[in-house]
Amino acid sequence: MSGGPGQGAVSNVAAPVTALIVAAGSGQRLGAGVPKALVPVGGRPMYQWSLAACLAAKLIDRVVIAVPPGGAEAFGDVDAELVDGGASRSESVAAGLEKVTTELVLVHDAARPLVTPELIDAAVEELEGDPASDAVTAAAPVIDTIKRVGPDGVVRETLDRSELRSIQTPQVFRTEALRRAIAEGDVENATDDAFLIESAGGRVTVLNAPATNIKVTVPSDIELATLLLEAATNSSNPL
Ligand code: C5P
Repeated sequence: MSGGPGQGAVSNVAAPVTALIVAAGSGQRLGAGVPKALVPVGGRPMYQWSLAACLAAKLIDRVVIAVPPGGAEAFGDVDAELVDGGASRSESVAAGLEKVTTELVLVHDAARPLVTPELIDAAVEELEGDPASDAVTAAAPVIDTIKRVGPDGVVRETLDRSELRSIQTPQVFRTEALRRAIAEGDVENATDDAFLIESAGGRVTVLNAPATNIKVTVPSDIELATLLLEAATNSSNPL
């Protein structure tokens, strides 16, 4: 982690950044009987991979984790501030934002254990270097051909995949812009926070990220994530 704001900071020293890990989901689709963030992946509770990546990132100063309401104890004694999340992902982000005092905040899903410190730092750097943007999101190019299909099962159109991206986290925001977007936006229908910024007319840019930064959602994703984590840990060339 970089040092705190400190006295005598000079202008070329990056402003402090808080990482907010959202880990309050129930993980119903995973069917593990415990909150998804606590499900073991690659030998550790899932959230610990994201926490370790945030703590190892050079540009993150502090970590806040939104946990299932009343469930902080299960997360143990960690180098992060824990806060009760909410019923929806956006409510968990809103709860976490109450603990954020920095100008920039990086939001990351605990369900993406493959995130690396390098990707986290690159996302922060991208927003720091782009004053015109309100947010930066990690995204992977789309490999499959994507078609729009009607309720009758008939193809309506084939989309130009060179324009499509599969959106991931981390996503980095100007904290005030995200606060406003959550307060005024359609949080019920938001599957990511960048959508709320877009809906409010803000500018979101994408940062190319590896497709291996998967979100663990269904049981088979655990096996895949474990294999990918093993490959990343054993490789001198991390994913
Ligand atoms: O459910 P889904 O996989 O889209 O969740 C993405 C991330 O959002 C997960 O890390 C999950 O823990 C988090 N989340 C949350 N609060 C909720 C629902 C999801 O923090 N109420």
